[in-house]
Amino acid sequence: MPPEDPIVIIGSGIGGLTAAIILAKLGHRVTVVEKNKLPGGLMRSYTRKGIECEVGIHYMGALDKGQPLRQIFDFIGVSDRIPLTRMGEDGVVDKYILPGMEFDFPASIDRYGENLREAFPDEGRQIAAIIAVLHDAIGRFDSMSIFLKGETNFDFARELRPAGDYFNELGCSLGLRSILSVPLSLIGVGPDECPVYLWSSSVSSYLMSSWRLTRGGAHMADTFAERLRELGGEIICNDGVSKILVQNRAVRGVALKSGRELVSPTIISAIHPKLMLGLLSDDSYKPSFKNRILSLQETPGIFATHVAVPEDELPLRPYNIFILNEAADKYEVVTFLNMKKSPEPGWNTLSILGGSPYEQWRTWEHTTRGQRPREYKEAKAREAAVLFDRALKLFGPLHRARVVDSFTPLSFVDWMGSPEGGAYGVRRSTTQKFKTAALHRTPLTGLHAVGQSVFAPGILGTALGTLRVLAPLVGYETLRQKFIDSGIEGI
Ligand SMILES: Cc1cc2nc3c(=O)[nH]c(=O)nc-3n(C[C@H](O)[C@H](O)[C@H](O)COP(=O)(O)OP(=O)(O)OC[C@H]3O[C@@H](n4cnc5c(N)ncnc54)[C@H](O)[C@@H]3O)c2cc1C
Repeated sequence: MPPEDPIVIIGSGIGGLTAAIILAKLGHRVTVVEKNKLPGGLMRSYTRKGIECEVGIHYMGALDKGQPLRQIFDFIGVSDRIPLTRMGEDGVVDKYILPGMEFDFPASIDRYGENLREAFPDEGRQIAAIIAVLHDAIGRFDSMSIFLKGETNFDFARELRPAGDYFNELGCSLGLRSILSVPLSLIGVGPDECPVYLWSSSVSSYLMSSWRLTRGGAHMADTFAERLRELGGEIICNDGVSKILVQNRAVRGVALKSGRELVSPTIISAIHPKLMLGLLSDDSYKPSFKNRILSLQETPGIFATHVAVPEDELPLRPYNIFILNEAADKYEVVTFLNMKKSPEPGWNTLSILGGSPYEQWRTWEHTTRGQRPREYKEAKAREAAVLFDRALKLFGPLHRARVVDSFTPLSFVDWMGSPEGGAYGVRRSTTQKFKTAALHRTPLTGLHAVGQSVFAPGILGTALGTLRVLAPLVGYETLRQKFIDSGIEGI
């Protein structure tokens, strides 16, 4: 990719903006196109009635010095501008509440092993094996060799099988298996389908270190956008891409909804693969490509309600809470609660999230945002009441607390274009491992894909996936050297 050639990036989530900043840093002329009024995608929070509501960032892992997300933030030059609060200083990052039991997910792998042994004293052998797998996962992040050298030195036989099978084979009890599986609710795939490597990468990233945004997602999104502009990049908002222009099986640019055209031999799609497909004309790829993309299964939808609570009624909890209920043969996460200080003095925001099937909302999928009928609003209010009630059961009465806003899977369709309102993009399950193996590649010269569906969801997963796609494009050694020249430690 010659630096003088412009690059167009479709979508300004963490995937698109990370790709844009890296490419701009390497001297490319980059334009990001975003259909929404403001950049940031899921990372951007919004404010209702003076209360800041988070969307796609409640906490992040691996941001301590020398850890992978921090290395990326350092490289792109945003670390110093995004204030973070470390979680787990008092020993708890996440509190799991199950019938008859509580478990604390701590801030280090050693403490995790201790807490597991304390909760499941008869399962020392299983726990030792699990901790060894997590150590391997942490080791894989070392020097980011997978991402910056293309090395994949892992035990495929173990890492690509379902984590649930692995736990069963080790002889884990129902309780241990359920506790180990809780973090999977953050990536939208259950233990029976989640490959071991994805489970272990996700758990270990939070064990490396866990952080909350001190200033919220809107500030983070603005920081990324500002950094890109500083490096000479451009962001066009409020004017989505309506078509990817193709000639002789190579991309030549994009057409925007406004009718404007941007000419470019390189396009990075940082949107869901099904949305990318919708921007291409049928004759630009083989039917097999279309069938593969359209048959991809999505992660489940999420319903969230944001509640303003007075500080004196409910002091800030410095940890997240997962409530699990007993299902057929397991315990399942039904509610995730997260609290943060609100910009409004004396108030905190309590965000309560629960799984929500798209079917529940499908009736209204053809209605327009802001003009949905009363029935939709009533359904939202009922769902919010269910979640709020779970919070009341946990915390006791909250007389002055008030629901300020809720979002449904349809909100993700409205804002991100997420097919079926899936929260975490394509389900990275073992059952569709072949279909998801190379989603970054497309049949068209010059068209590449990044974003949460491509490698792994989450801020870390999406950012690392972006590196994995860009490194071979710009040259592994070029990118690695640029990291080293930027003084990034541990490369
Ligand atoms: C409720 C929820 C909570 C989460 N919590 C956490 C968490 O605590 N920690 C964590 O690490 N991860 C969390 N995640 C996951 C994380 O937010 C995502 O994995 C990540 O932000 C995805 O980034 P992305 O760039 O792939 O996609 P997005 O952020 O979805 O960005 C895609 C962008 O493309 C734009 N777009 C779509 N179509 C077009 C078009 N035609 N033209 C132009 N632009 C277009 C969209 O408007 C959007 O801005 C959460 C996700 C959800 C849904």
